[in-house]
Amino acid sequence: MSPVTPAHRDTDVLVLGSGLAGLRAAHAAAAAPHLSVTVASPSNAPSGSSFTNRNNALGIQRPGKHDRDDFCREVLALARPGFVNPHLVRIMAEDAEARFAELEEMGLDFRRNDSGDLALFPGCGSRIPRAAIFDDLAHAHACFTQRAEQAGALFLPGFTVLGLAMDNARCVGAWGMHEGRPAAIRARTVIMAVGGPAPLFALNVSGRANPGYGHAILARAGTRMVNTGFLQFMWYTRDRQFRSPAALLSPGNRIHPDSGTPVTAEQAVGSELEALRSARALHCPAFFGQPQSKLDALLRDARHHDGFARIETPRGMEEVGLMAHAGNGGAVTDEHGATSVPGLFAVGECAASMHGANRMGGCMVLATQVFGHRAGIMAAQEAASTALCSQSRFREACADAKKTAQPSKAEAAEWAGLQKEMTRLATFPDLKTEKPELTDFPDQLRDVAHSSGPELSLAATAMLLAADRKGRTDQPFYL
Ligand SMILES: Cc1cc2nc3c(=O)[nH]c(=O)nc-3n(C[C@H](O)[C@H](O)[C@H](O)COP(=O)(O)OP(=O)(O)OC[C@H]3O[C@@H](n4cnc5c(N)ncnc54)[C@H](O)[C@@H]3O)c2cc1C
Repeated sequence: MSPVTPAHRDTDVLVLGSGLAGLRAAHAAAAAPHLSVTVASPSNAPSGSSFTNRNNALGIQRPGKHDRDDFCREVLALARPGFVNPHLVRIMAEDAEARFAELEEMGLDFRRNDSGDLALFPGCGSRIPRAAIFDDLAHAHACFTQRAEQAGALFLPGFTVLGLAMDNARCVGAWGMHEGRPAAIRARTVIMAVGGPAPLFALNVSGRANPGYGHAILARAGTRMVNTGFLQFMWYTRDRQFRSPAALLSPGNRIHPDSGTPVTAEQAVGSELEALRSARALHCPAFFGQPQSKLDALLRDARHHDGFARIETPRGMEEVGLMAHAGNGGAVTDEHGATSVPGLFAVGECAASMHGANRMGGCMVLATQVFGHRAGIMAAQEAASTALCSQSRFREACADAKKTAQPSKAEAAEWAGLQKEMTRLATFPDLKTEKPELTDFPDQLRDVAHSSGPELSLAATAMLLAADRKGRTDQPFYL
């Protein structure tokens, strides 16, 4: 792996994050001649939900020419009540075959059926078997890293971005911590690929080495954001075994409330139970605004003080909690991954507009490849015709960004008041009753923040963005 020395802090294209999105973007950018591309992230080891997720496998939607229209229809139907850009959905459908072919060429370990053909599965929210699954994420990480490196990308491990440097409303680099010391990287263009906000939540199942405050960094740079409140949550046991509400609420199973008498699923739901269960069986995360979301709401409201619901099933008492899995919001991007901020691109789970409130299973991995590729190309093109900002202006830009990231006195005071509210929001943003003791969000935040002011402040901002219900206050939460 080609390291960037700590002294070498200028680059043409800076990629922040080394998950599927960052490495795909780095590969595309590094293919441009005569440009330096630097991938900066906390670690060179597999990281993020891409390479360290608990399933050790990922599904990717693979629409072909014959079913592009169906794919777009399905994705758009799931999007409400979130924002989606149909143009980007179409682009995902059109670019999917080419990006998928590259993954096969790279040697990813795709599941095959007995005859050796690619095995295809319906992704969450779809009835059509069009998603392929690859196993062994460490192997996938090695393939992606090797390919980006062969294309000429340089790697700067040990770097955690804390802010974007802005000069005349243009992004001109990033600052953060490199192996415990403040560091800044000047760049002609920057690609944010730092993943989503799920790690902010006390109960989460996301991958390693993502503090979860990418949304806050983007928002503080003035990037237009959307869908930040639409996170995917799933029901897991305490030892992180997935449980579907469709199975948990089988007829005869009994919900044990915090206090009072247990009720059977059919008593709690009534005659709709079977229809709702069969709709709910089609997807793992709770969906927003769909009839079957009633089942998630029922479990949500049945949770005890520790955040876990108790369901009595034929195999014993199941204790399940709602765990943050992935986000469907982030920076609004165009078909090249460009954000509303000149010089700044966003890809992967910190980007938005190609999924709405609900995302079809396999669409995030597809988006990392389609828009990672496109953003890498465009960031390189733009870098080729953009000058680096001067050293003196860059120093000023970094100083300004640091000031923005430090919690101000007012913020710190507000934080004290918000903490209680955020504790409530941490497990789920619309608990009917105040149960401040319900989550260990302050502990989670301590993990996120451990030593520094900016991290605490970014985590708080990201938390608020994740709980964002701006403009939607007239609606109950979407379950
Ligand atoms: C258990 C699980 C299963 C999933 N299954 C599927 C699936 O089957 N199909 C699907 O489409 N999606 C799935 N997802 C979602 C999908 O895996 C992720 O959304 C996707 O991999 C995100 O890729 P990414 O590159 O954007 O971010 P990540 O893979 O999370 O990578 C983020 C990168 O940014 C780095 N980083 C973070 N913060 C900073 C910072 N401040 N400074 C510098 N670097 C930083 C991290 O270290 C990491 O390298 C799943 C998610 C989970 C948790």
